[in-house]
Amino acid sequence: MRTPAHGPVLDAVTTAARRYLDSLPDRPVFPVVTPAEVRRAVVDELTVDGLPAEQVVAELDRAVEPFVAAHGSGRYFGFVIGGTHPAAWGADLLVSTWDQNAALYAPTPGVAVVEEIAARWLVELLNLPPQTSVGFVTGGQMANLTCLAAARGHVLRESGWDVEADGLPGAPRVNVLVKADGHSTVPRALRLLGLGMRNVLEVACDDEHRIDVVSLRETLQPLQGPTIICTEAGNINTGAFDPFEEIADLADAHRAAGHPTWTHVDGAIGLLAAASEAHRVLTRGLARLDSWSTDGHKLLNTPYDLGVAMTRHPAAHRAAMSVQASYLIQGGEDIRDPMDWNPEFSRRARGVVVYAVLRSLGRAGLARMIDRLADLARRFADQLRASDGCTVLNEVAFNQVLVRWVPPDDRDADRFNDQVMAAIQADATAFVSGTTWRGQRYMRLSVADQATDEQDVDRCVVAMLRCADEVRGAEA
Ligand SMILES: *Cc1c(COP(=O)(O)O)cnc(C)c1O
Repeated sequence: MRTPAHGPVLDAVTTAARRYLDSLPDRPVFPVVTPAEVRRAVVDELTVDGLPAEQVVAELDRAVEPFVAAHGSGRYFGFVIGGTHPAAWGADLLVSTWDQNAALYAPTPGVAVVEEIAARWLVELLNLPPQTSVGFVTGGQMANLTCLAAARGHVLRESGWDVEADGLPGAPRVNVLVKADGHSTVPRALRLLGLGMRNVLEVACDDEHRIDVVSLRETLQPLQGPTIICTEAGNINTGAFDPFEEIADLADAHRAAGHPTWTHVDGAIGLLAAASEAHRVLTRGLARLDSWSTDGHKLLNTPYDLGVAMTRHPAAHRAAMSVQASYLIQGGEDIRDPMDWNPEFSRRARGVVVYAVLRSLGRAGLARMIDRLADLARRFADQLRASDGCTVLNEVAFNQVLVRWVPPDDRDADRFNDQVMAAIQADATAFVSGTTWRGQRYMRLSVADQATDEQDVDRCVVAMLRCADEVRGAEA
């Protein structure tokens, strides 16, 4: 028998992974480092003869691990970065180990069926229409792209134009409505789809950055022909959800007036609220809309990279994504070819990871995880509000907290907020990131890691207040 080559590598990986994971609760959450320091640490020597695999893995661990940000520590609240559920992590290792090309059912029936089950579970858990089609993609960006590609094809087909066959030149103009200051992945998707940005219509939002229904009605009213409306479940700054019921009413009326209409929901942050009894109220009317995107690597706590594109129009979804080629073995009775539902061709079986995390949590466990993230965000907000060193700007209906630090005197408040955030990052107990919202600088907290607990929040609040005090004192 041939000696398997994987033994020593597996040992090197296990040792490195265990040491890293064990360090998470206490390690600094972020390495304060310059690019030059990282470059010095990483061996930049491509030799002629190379190195044994286990040596490369051990060397990477040694050189790079000190510069890894502790996203999974429970104390990382920057951007919107989820942690990793242990079942998802384990399944992800298996997916890498099996190394399946999960483009089609034929070469890999096992993972294709697991993805089919994961897709069905998601549709059920989110209370979406039973016919909803699902594509597992690399993230929210590609989920938005996939859904909007289906939207583009659908509204144009209903206007007598086959965009998949004839392209955009000569096509009826598609009206696209987006939120003012919506997430940047939506304009990028529109750009990639040839819909451009110059003709996009902006809809005004209220103080929580929810679509203003009056503005939406007035924007829609004069429009003729195919129309796409882009909405959000979980705004990047406030975590707010758009009023889907009212939006669905307006979309239905516009459609009834003879204009093909599709409403998309960017739910990268908040779509999972629909799986929780306590937070479902935020998503009222959601299932009446046409497409929904979400992220696995945010609140669902799968490893990177994982997004989900869902539509209530499987034919439009498939028409936008599927490819035919003579050398492929496609379709057949009762078969789901993953490639029909996502823009990737060769791809890893990332849906298996969704299966694993849902199977491990169960229905109630998933709801508990979502509720807990929102509870911890409220705990942050309550403690920060009580401190009188800062104000909390948003309602904290879900997992995002928008904070403005109050300077001690007539100092520049924007500059003071940036200084406090820099001090918090340097302190490395917690990681936070900033945002510019309505022309002012804010600190934004995003609670998205199942590893976060009450102690983490309390400890991080103490550190944040201490950092703010130090910045106040430093310039007083
Ligand atoms: C993160 C995010 C995206 C993009 O998702 P990626 O997974 O980073 O591609 C889109 N929309 C919103 C609201 C987000 O928060």
